[in-house]
Amino acid sequence: MGLEILKALGLRQQGLTFVSCPGCGRMDVDLVKLARDVEERLKGIGKTVHVAVMGCEVNGPGEARGADVGVAGGRGIGLIFRQGRVVRKVPEAEIVDALWEEVQAFLADQEALARQAVQDPD
Ligand code: SF4
Repeated sequence: MGLEILKALGLRQQGLTFVSCPGCGRMDVDLVKLARDVEERLKGIGKTVHVAVMGCEVNGPGEARGADVGVAGGRGIGLIFRQGRVVRKVPEAEIVDALWEEVQAFLADQEALARQAVQDPD
């Protein structure tokens, strides 16, 4: 419970942080289905990662860029961001798989950095 409060206050980020925009008339993808499918895929990941699923190219990139891995929907496509950069542009049907792959790549990078920090603390 205490950890959840700290996470909610932004003071402690552990585990999965999943955000999705509420959706509006600008949506270019089936956001409800996409968010549900992404959340389902990430369920039980047991790692610390922040993932954002946003419905359009207008206001979505800001939040997607701020996450570890994010997507901003476009017309029938998804722009996939990893650590602030666009890394892929995929058809809507491939967004969930692409996000999953980028989450795995992000976690692998984090683990490599952690290993390196242990081996070379300076
Ligand atoms: S990110 Fe785009 S689709 Fe989502 S609520 Fe904002 S403007 Fe609407």
